Amino acid sequence: MADRSYLDWPFFDNEHRALARDLDDWATEHVRPMPEAHEEIVDEMCRELVRRLAGASWLDYAVPGAQGGRREALDVRSLCLIRETLGRHHALADFAFAMQGLGSGAISLFGSGELKTSYLPAVRRGKRIAAFALSEPEAGSDVAAIETTAVEDGDHYVIDGTKTWISNGGLADFYTVFARTGEAPGAKGLSAFVVDAATPGLEVVERIPVMAPHPLATLGFDGCRVPKSHLLGEPGEGFKVAMATLDVFRSTVGAAALGFARRALDEALERASGRRLFGEPMSELQMVQSKLADMALGVDASALLVYRAAWTRDCVADRVSREAAMAKLYATETAQRVIDDAVQIFGGLGVVAGHPVERLYREVRALRIYEGASEVQKVIIARQALAAHEREASSATASRGT
Ligand SMILES: Cc1cc2nc3c(=O)[nH]c(=O)nc-3n(C[C@H](O)[C@H](O)[C@H](O)COP(=O)(O)OP(=O)(O)OC[C@H]3O[C@@H](n4cnc5c(N)ncnc54)[C@H](O)[C@@H]3O)c2cc1C
Repeated sequence: MADRSYLDWPFFDNEHRALARDLDDWATEHVRPMPEAHEEIVDEMCRELVRRLAGASWLDYAVPGAQGGRREALDVRSLCLIRETLGRHHALADFAFAMQGLGSGAISLFGSGELKTSYLPAVRRGKRIAAFALSEPEAGSDVAAIETTAVEDGDHYVIDGTKTWISNGGLADFYTVFARTGEAPGAKGLSAFVVDAATPGLEVVERIPVMAPHPLATLGFDGCRVPKSHLLGEPGEGFKVAMATLDVFRSTVGAAALGFARRALDEALERASGRRLFGEPMSELQMVQSKLADMALGVDASALLVYRAAWTRDCVADRVSREAAMAKLYATETAQRVIDDAVQIFGGLGVVAGHPVERLYREVRALRIYEGASEVQKVIIARQALAAHEREASSATASRGT
């Protein structure tokens, strides 16, 4: 039984507590029994999960809005609680939920009324699958290096280039695409567009098999014409659109990692309590206890950072780059260690293909890379700390001068 005492923390309202409990019950029945995904069935499993999540109205939390959404704005605490809970039950369920949110997030935050009306209700009902296409072969961590271009032509933009590592690539019905429109050099010359998967000139170049299967692809754009009405925000605001969207969803990556870690801890506690070693329960061995203590500490510290970031975004500030970076960095790195410890506690069983801790070991790895690798999060945290220090120093100088 997973520890739920964190739900009593002051970050949450009673509505959040009820959400976490109801979703846990639902996921125990509708998600946990599903098999592990493999390449041949992963698309169908994702479609089925989106259908189930939509049918039970959980996608309402990923897609806010006036047209039947639960809230006017994304509630990051709900998103994190949902990702943590789904991640604890089945990584692909978390993925299916998260991508509906990330893929449509820029429309929720920056879309015109018309775009919101025509896309968001369908995403919420699971009728359209969403994806977020930022990365390129030469522009992953360095977003400002994007080479894909979007050139104005009458009422349209014409997009040419390549996007890669795109989750839901090949499965999605539409993509939020970032391309260079050239208003200024680097990050200031990007714009964001909604591009339907069926648009002529857009094709799936290849599917990329990964260690924990989920739909992932490289996309090619060749003279792909997109109406100007599909622009998100203003021309040249693409970087801002991408970063504001990631700001919301980055903490939720930490939440998914937290869910994986909590599951690993639960599995390890169960095993250590039931297994006998050297004539006594394994849980009596002090080196095992030391591991369990480190794991429990890591889980709680991750939860504090994740829900601090989510609460800050919901209740205090629009941008939470520092808090979200800390949550993502700490929770993903810690989850990797917690899961590794769980594998160790299971001994040989821990590396048997398909065992829950073996699955978690593969599933957690990519989270330290996507939506900003751990090193990128460190850069964000250090820059914010330096900027705060500089502000303090100049205000101290100013007050000494007056
Ligand atoms: C499973 C998976 C799913 C993904 N889904 C999507 C998606 O849906 N949409 C999308 O747009 N992209 C997606 N990505 C892409 C992901 O965001 C990029 O892989 C990531 O940003 C890293 O870019 P890169 O792979 O080009 O590595 P690079 O940019 O080449 O970086 C390589 C490594 O360099 C290190 N590094 C980076 N910056 C610094 C620094 N400043 N100082 C020191 N070291 C540094 C990091 O360790 C990093 O892992 C996904 C990736 C994976 C693996």
